[in-house]
Amino acid sequence: IADVAHELRTPLAGITGYVEAMLDGVITPEPEALLRLHREAARLQRLVTDLQELSRVEAGQVPLHPRRVEVREVVEAAAVRLRAQFDEKGIDLQIDTAPGLPPVLADPDRIAQVLTNLLGNALQYTPRGGRVEVYVKPLDGAVAIAVRDTGIGIPPEHLPYVFDRFYRVDRSRARASGGSGIGLTIVRHLVEAHGGSVRAESPGPGKGSTFTVTLPAAS
Ligand code: ADP
Repeated sequence: IADVAHELRTPLAGITGYVEAMLDGVITPEPEALLRLHREAARLQRLVTDLQELSRVEAGQVPLHPRRVEVREVVEAAAVRLRAQFDEKGIDLQIDTAPGLPPVLADPDRIAQVLTNLLGNALQYTPRGGRVEVYVKPLDGAVAIAVRDTGIGIPPEHLPYVFDRFYRVDRSRARASGGSGIGLTIVRHLVEAHGGSVRAESPGPGKGSTFTVTLPAAS
């Protein structure tokens, strides 16, 4: 609860500050000021949506509807959805799926949510001109999905914590981009609810990151 209160404080302080300044006549309600106000409110809204989803996954209240799923199809669909955003930022998105992949027993919507999250992070933390690759391959009765980017990387001392609630490597930068530090926590819960696992690797700052999800193959 202390963490949540802390997360809510900054956008709320921003909104209160702006409105007070307008009421005092210090700033006029020009479109630019209203836009900043709207941005803070939107951030608050995103945070509340994320918190709601987090509380549901943590309480095990997200119903799973598992069926036999071809991971390749889910990966390709996620790439199609996000392709325009990658193009816009000038980041090359490649998918590499090994032949002969076994299907997994999973809820395709939830696996899509996991991929959207990991690809969204890769997009966010990779500078223009970079590259993001998704590798899918079989691995000892499981399927491994690796999302590798050429982005800002993660310092080794932060790696063990990136799946923790509200954890952000660079708090000020993440605030500016509206990151809540909840996405990866949701990812881990969803993957573990499928009997799978997820891990983060990075050779260090500026050297990119790889997030690998492993899901058991359907028997
Ligand atoms: P956020 O909303 O802040 O992105 P996440 O839970 O998705 O929250 O990620 C937690 C933190 O892990 C991020 O704030 C960022 O510092 C780090 N992170 C996640 N993905 C990447 C990535 N692909 N490259 C570098 N850092 C990352």
